[in-house]
Amino acid sequence: MIEDKNPQRTPLSELGEFKLIEHLTEQFKINHKSTVKGIGDDAAIINSDKKQIVVTTDLLVEGVHFDLSYVPLKHLGYKAVMVNLSDVYAMNANATQITVSIAVSNRFPLEALEELYAGIETATRLYNVDVVGGDTTSSTSGLIISITAIGEVEKDKVVKRSGAKPNDLLVVSGDLGGAYMGLQVLEREKEVFKVNPQSQPDLSMYTYIVERQLKPEARKDIVELLEKLEVKPTSMIDISDGLSSEIIHLCKQSKVGADVYENKIPLDPQVISTCEEFNIDSTTIALNGGEDYELLMTISQEDFPKIKGNPNLTVIGYITEAERGMHLVTRAETKVPIIAKGWKNFKETED
Ligand code: ADP
Ligand code: MG
Repeated sequence: MIEDKNPQRTPLSELGEFKLIEHLTEQFKINHKSTVKGIGDDAAIINSDKKQIVVTTDLLVEGVHFDLSYVPLKHLGYKAVMVNLSDVYAMNANATQITVSIAVSNRFPLEALEELYAGIETATRLYNVDVVGGDTTSSTSGLIISITAIGEVEKDKVVKRSGAKPNDLLVVSGDLGGAYMGLQVLEREKEVFKVNPQSQPDLSMYTYIVERQLKPEARKDIVELLEKLEVKPTSMIDISDGLSSEIIHLCKQSKVGADVYENKIPLDPQVISTCEEFNIDSTTIALNGGEDYELLMTISQEDFPKIKGNPNLTVIGYITEAERGMHLVTRAETKVPIIAKGWKNFKETED
């Protein structure tokens, strides 16, 4: 479906592992003074100064987490980095280094890996992160990418999932549901393409949501904004699996309950119109769709004046005592328990 604009195919066997690693990694520059040694030794060396170090890993498997028939490799590289940086920012930390490990079958030419690494390079340049290592091996079938991200945060600034208190406000960055609806559009176009390979998809009506799916941005800007506003959330988590499951994680770890107001959930107009077109309820999508990579946090009531009116942050509810449970207060003012569906399961029940 996505045209191969790069017909050149250099087999990986032509380079060998050492040359391949060198070729793919020579573009990376080191920017952080905490990176004492990057690529090239048995291990990278990172200086921690007085800060705390956060570490997080994600594994992406072709056919499970991504479909190369509509995900360009450059976007995949970019997204693989974002997924990890998002976890670092969710700790209120600044991402400083990543390692990139790949397993690749020989059906991929060198040019494909160059595309993947171009995406990784763009992401790390824009987010100011050093690539300090990784591993490269062969795979018998698809492509596997594992990225580990390292970040740093002053001890008293780190934010966990476990600090929410009753009466805290539940706040979300950006808007929700876009990435899931973007995926719906891309999957529909893939089916059309299967029937008619001549068809070229017209995605102009869906640019925002397709971009949310293919090229998500981790919310480094929100961590910086909170710092500027002098707001330290009492708890925080990134929204990778949908609002419902993240609310449940926060509440369980903080031993609290929550009331979330349906009419407060931020939705982009394109999400609303695409939901109408697909005949899906937009609240369900915001609650259970995945991959938005926004930040969900709780803040103390006294910090409300500092965030009030900020277009990047929306108050969607508040924290209650654990006994009250977790509920969605609908537009009709009925209370519905929040249950975890997770977007993958959700997808199965949709069929
Ligand atoms: P080792 O045999 O010790 O695992 P490698 O030859 O695999 O070392 O790696 C050499 C150097 O290149 C190391 O610094 C390693 O971290 C880095 N490296 C290997 N593969 C990648 C990759 N896919 N992306 C980035 N760096 C890599
Ligand atoms: Mg190795």
